[in-house]
Amino acid sequence: MTTSYSGKSGDKPVIVWFRDDLRLADNPALHAAAETGLPVLCVFVHDPALPLGRATRWWLDGALRAFQASITACGGELLVLHGPTFEIMCDVLRTLQPAGIFWNRRYGLHERNIDSRVKDYCKENSIAASSFAASLLHEPWTVQTRAGGRFRVYTAWWRAVCEMGDPACPLAAPERLCSAPVPEVLAGRTTVDALALLPKTPDWAAGLRAEWHPGEEKAQDYLGAFLNDTLEGYATLRDRPAGVSTSRLSPYLRFGHLSPRQVWHATKRAVQTASHEISLADQDKFLSELGWRDFAWSLLFDRPDLASTNFRPEFDAMRWLDEPDMFTAWARGQTGYPLVDAGMRQLWITGWMHNRVRMVVASFLTKHLLIDWRKGARWFDDTLVDADPASNVMNWQWVAGSGVDAAPYFRVMNPVLQSEKFDPDGEYIKKFVPELRHLPVRALHAPWQASPAELTRAGVRLGETYPCPVVEHRFARERALAAWKASTG
Ligand code: FAD
Repeated sequence: MTTSYSGKSGDKPVIVWFRDDLRLADNPALHAAAETGLPVLCVFVHDPALPLGRATRWWLDGALRAFQASITACGGELLVLHGPTFEIMCDVLRTLQPAGIFWNRRYGLHERNIDSRVKDYCKENSIAASSFAASLLHEPWTVQTRAGGRFRVYTAWWRAVCEMGDPACPLAAPERLCSAPVPEVLAGRTTVDALALLPKTPDWAAGLRAEWHPGEEKAQDYLGAFLNDTLEGYATLRDRPAGVSTSRLSPYLRFGHLSPRQVWHATKRAVQTASHEISLADQDKFLSELGWRDFAWSLLFDRPDLASTNFRPEFDAMRWLDEPDMFTAWARGQTGYPLVDAGMRQLWITGWMHNRVRMVVASFLTKHLLIDWRKGARWFDDTLVDADPASNVMNWQWVAGSGVDAAPYFRVMNPVLQSEKFDPDGEYIKKFVPELRHLPVRALHAPWQASPAELTRAGVRLGETYPCPVVEHRFARERALAAWKASTG
């Protein structure tokens, strides 16, 4: 990182290799490349072997288009390449013979392996390779117990993070990039159009288009709106799924349109300078939620098999049920439990689901239906615009009870009580399960408890216009506890 580029590099360019960090501001790799004063070539590789879900493919299309436009406006060019990452990057380095290459670090095992192979290639070919911390508040190995070990309990980890003080201040975007000439022939060179990331037949993305606008500029708008309108009251209202009660920044963080350091510092600034009082409880609660994202990555860093393996091995003996019809009812939002169905339909339509409801639907799948958490995690991976390899599996394992610092298995969420508590007016249910909207509020949470007259007046015919519950709560709860007891002996 101390490489000096002045004088010895001639007209050679430097390369910035972008991955999940599609932003100009607070991008240490881009910042360092621009500081060399040499021509900069920006590169993104789309690897077909990368397991991207359909919703994240949709997001990536918009993200790349927005980022290309920002880089062009800054005087640069973003080259989009397609193919196996290592081979493509070696070809870029061979063809361009750059003075150096810059990237921001990744923490998944597969990605780390690719990055170190590219670093080895650079070493063998005397190309300076520099990597930076950019996508977390603190890199996994920097947060340690007093004995130098790793935390397994979130509260202790968070306390240690707070004792470390504020993360580094965000860097400004480069004012201007000096663009490098692009060679005529480069392996895998393609366009965003040719990547064909968007769904065609059928085009199911109308709901996503209506809801989301990928890109750095929009990320900043969302952050500003959240800090102005929603941060105040966050600690008490964040569990309410109706309306906007959280930041909805997760897909922007997932693709790196925004860094967590930017969010951290902007939040603190907003609280200090607000014209009205925003309580520290709101600020601290929000920052600690942001911390969960780092915690998930530090777990995945230590346990790269987290997507396939129970963190707690006693769960290996759990006898999950193989009931495809039940899984389909869950995935389509047809379980007969309105809050669960509202959540699954919100996910299907918009590519996102409120956190409280994610917990309820995950608990319903793993405990009421006794279906393996890995199947639920795969469905989320495919349908969430914020699908994140670390946060997704950590949270699924947390809800299922098999994870680190997890909710105990015997805590089976009651979907009706959750609904009454967190969607008391039924607004969220009415929005995503409109066939129930004329029921009285009390019955919205459990339509099978409505009187025949109420059902008739609301135009609801259970089993026809809306399903009867696919499983009875008390029975499901006892079955889940028995399965857990049997598996742990
Ligand atoms: P806010 O409440 O505004 O929080 C701000 C940011 O903090 C979020 O954008 C997110 O980056 C982070 N954050 C908040 N809660 C969590 C959490 N529990 N775990 C990790 N990070 C958190 N989040 C993802 O980003 N990707 C996933 O694939 C994902 N899968 C999940 C699966 C399940 C079963 C559950 C229960 C939760 C999952 N989450 C996931 C966590 C959480 O639901 C989302 O981060 C949150 O709903 C995003 O909304 P927001 O940006 O408005 O959150």
